[in-house]
Amino acid sequence: MRAITAWFWLLISLICERHSLGVRITGGIILFFIIFISTTAIPKVRRRFHNTFEYIHRYVGWTCLIILIIHVVFLQLDKFDSFSTKVLFNIPVLILLAVVIIVFLTWICVRKVLVQYDQPSDDLTIITFPRALYPYGSTTRISLDGHEWHAFVIALTDSYTDQHSIFVAAVGDWIKDLAADYRSNKLPQHVWVRQIKGLGFMYSIHAYRKVLIVCTGSGIAPALPYIKDPLPTTHTHLLWIAKKHEQNYGEYVWKLVQKTHPHYTLHDTTVNGRPGPQLVENVFWRTSSETVFVVSNEKFTNEVVNALWRKDIPSFGALFDS
Ligand SMILES: Cc1cc2nc3c(=O)[nH]c(=O)nc-3n(C[C@H](O)[C@H](O)[C@H](O)COP(=O)(O)OP(=O)(O)OC[C@H]3O[C@@H](n4cnc5c(N)ncnc54)[C@H](O)[C@@H]3O)c2cc1C
Repeated sequence: MRAITAWFWLLISLICERHSLGVRITGGIILFFIIFISTTAIPKVRRRFHNTFEYIHRYVGWTCLIILIIHVVFLQLDKFDSFSTKVLFNIPVLILLAVVIIVFLTWICVRKVLVQYDQPSDDLTIITFPRALYPYGSTTRISLDGHEWHAFVIALTDSYTDQHSIFVAAVGDWIKDLAADYRSNKLPQHVWVRQIKGLGFMYSIHAYRKVLIVCTGSGIAPALPYIKDPLPTTHTHLLWIAKKHEQNYGEYVWKLVQKTHPHYTLHDTTVNGRPGPQLVENVFWRTSSETVFVVSNEKFTNEVVNALWRKDIPSFGALFDS
């Protein structure tokens, strides 16, 4: 809503106020680029042309920022009569400065770090990074070449060794290549990481007292922090749907779930077949939970969340918007 308001604000200013040609041209380009980026973000377009969307979002976004800088310079020149601190420190300049800092901070804080790899099964690679100082459920972004970035949840932190690990399931081309490169010993020893971490949607479980966490496959990764170090204020029950849990996710994860977390239900699809939302509902009532958090693929997430909401059971899943 704020973005739409800002868009119209700029449009009305360009039409109704007296501006130099430079301000009008740069303002017009910004308005056009914003419409262009927004159009490529429409879910149907974004899904169909996912990589194109990512490039447009990144490069047109940066171009927009450069044009915004030129736009603000033209605005200042319009008003310029003598050099004073007012020229340097007024609202448009300060807002621009804040925008530039916010955008570049994530890139300034990119580091190349030494990592260790482990592969408990062909379907899962565990990557371990230095430093453990990250809050529950943080997400991290990594890149092997500094160009293509992928986001993962920090699944485990170990304050003794000062390390944190992510789980990378073999879903999608990039990750399948990564798993294959591990087996042929081709992975780089150092990878790029963004030091600034975001928080995933699972962080919202803090708002509830009794939560049912439903994971399929490697969706266990975002749940692990809450299992390893349970929250004092939130009781969680885990429903983990996967193929041969112990075999595919390794001894460490298996023991962590079994020994550290007494409240879990395992559903092995090789034995019991693929479940529907009814299984989730049954476990929800059995465990007297207040709400359900689902970490799965888009199809299962939507199926479960929609089925539960229809029965007035509060349930949440991630938005698949990138
Ligand atoms: C917030 C969030 C964070 C994530 N973090 C990570 C991460 O850090 N690392 C990572 O690797 N992935 C992560 N993921 C990805 C996600 O968990 C996996 O892609 C997903 O769970 C695995 O897909 P899958 O269930 O199809 O996998 P599969 O391994 O194909 O399936 C896992 C199990 O679920 C069953 N299953 C799958 N679909 C259905 C269905 N429609 N109905 C019934 N059963 C089904 C399968 O039979 C299987 O037993 C994250 C996802 C979200 C939403």
